[in-house]
Amino acid sequence: MAIKSIENLKTNDVGNSNVVVCPACGKATEMKLFAFTDASMVAHLLKKKQEGIAVCPKCAAVFRVNPNYMEQKQLGTVCTLEAHDLSPLDKRA
Ligand SMILES: [Zn+2]
Repeated sequence: MAIKSIENLKTNDVGNSNVVVCPACGKATEMKLFAFTDASMVAHLLKKKQEGIAVCPKCAAVFRVNPNYMEQKQLGTVCTLEAHDLSPLDKRA
């Protein structure tokens, strides 16, 4: 499953997002955020390092996170994750 493959990759757990409505299940929840710090399979898939993904704890949907949001988050900037910052990651490892 999607979650298991994520755990097998080298990621940084960057904590939870603010409450956002999951585009997949429509529930308001805090997304679990991960940042890729090296050339993992998914980072390769996304053709970029330092990409972020978000996992919905309600339905386990996986999303690519807007790189601008991830950048701000990692810089410690207070930023709000919006539903439009999440794009479905349909090519799963
Ligand atoms: Zn969901």
